[in-house]
Amino acid sequence: MNVPFLDVRAAYLDLREEIDAAVLRVLSSGWYLLGPEIESFESEFAAYCGARHCVAVGSGCDALELTLRGLGIGPGDEVIVPSHTFIATWLAVSEVGALPVPVEPDERTHVLDPALVEAAITPRTKAIMPVHLYGHPADTDAIGEIAARHGLHVVGDAAQAHGARVRGKRVGSTGTATAFSFYPGKNLGALGDGGAMVTDDPELAERVRLLRNYGSKVKYQHEVQATNSRLDEVQAAALRVKLPHLDAWTDRRRAVADRYLTELAGLPDLELPHVEPWAEHVWHLFVVRTPRREELRRALTEAGIGSLIHYPVPVHLSRAYADERRPEGSFPLAERAAGEVLSLPMGPHLSDDEVTEVVSAVRTALTRQTSPA
Ligand SMILES: *Cc1c(COP(=O)(O)O)cnc(C)c1O
Repeated sequence: MNVPFLDVRAAYLDLREEIDAAVLRVLSSGWYLLGPEIESFESEFAAYCGARHCVAVGSGCDALELTLRGLGIGPGDEVIVPSHTFIATWLAVSEVGALPVPVEPDERTHVLDPALVEAAITPRTKAIMPVHLYGHPADTDAIGEIAARHGLHVVGDAAQAHGARVRGKRVGSTGTATAFSFYPGKNLGALGDGGAMVTDDPELAERVRLLRNYGSKVKYQHEVQATNSRLDEVQAAALRVKLPHLDAWTDRRRAVADRYLTELAGLPDLELPHVEPWAEHVWHLFVVRTPRREELRRALTEAGIGSLIHYPVPVHLSRAYADERRPEGSFPLAERAAGEVLSLPMGPHLSDDEVTEVVSAVRTALTRQTSPA
């Protein structure tokens, strides 16, 4: 049996008739941008997140960048980001001309450790960007308190965490604003690129609306210099079909995670993901840690099971951020994570038999005697 890491086509096949009808409706309407689908999707997604406003844009990366721009963050400003994240979080900060200031993660949950945030704040800090990595939310309550004490914005990166909750509150319902990605492989995926920001602040929403559309609200009247980053009507229509199914898909992810957590417990050299009691994890990824990663990965590949590393190179050691003031060893927790993390197959369409197959392959690999050195 082959178990793919993720089957992005499955969600489409599940809802094929509805998605086809929605896409055809847009195609024959002749209205392809900034029309009724995006307007409806924005209000439906804002309601889902428990936020007042949603502005849909071209990608998750753009949602982060335009939110920072909308807050007036730019050259000379610093923004606190996790040392352990997908590079897009840092890039959004760099794109507006501000400086990303990395802070190490909590080693068990892999998300920003609030206890380490305060020490990274300087007079130039303007915002904190917690990333709800792998679907485990960062502690937005603790981070919100620190931000309030220092007069900072909190811009969440929920690209991997649609629907996750912190003490019952959805990510997206707290902080200054929260950005989402609808990249096809995310928990709520479009048929191409897409993203959105949600906020309770009507002025910030309005500014991002200008920024995504050439700085214009009324055609050919341009209030500010800006870019073009709009979610198109086809994507919005497809996302509207999928959104009502998101919570059921998350439940299925949770059931898969529960089986992995139970059936892989107690194996040698394997650290299973930790979930804080206050967190509702949405399991974008199921990430284990093992010092025997290459061996485990090879065994899984031989058994026909997909696995991936999120992410193999810590952002500060990538060529994009090469900086002699941040040599190897400067963010040891992020570096150690990059050397040990491995993501097992995860998704709402994983069958019980496939989960059994993964469990058995991991058990076999890790209980096998390692060959003597
Ligand atoms: C996917 C992702 C992004 C970027 O989203 P895109 O839609 O691909 O631009 C940002 N941050 C994190 C943590 C992500 O996983």
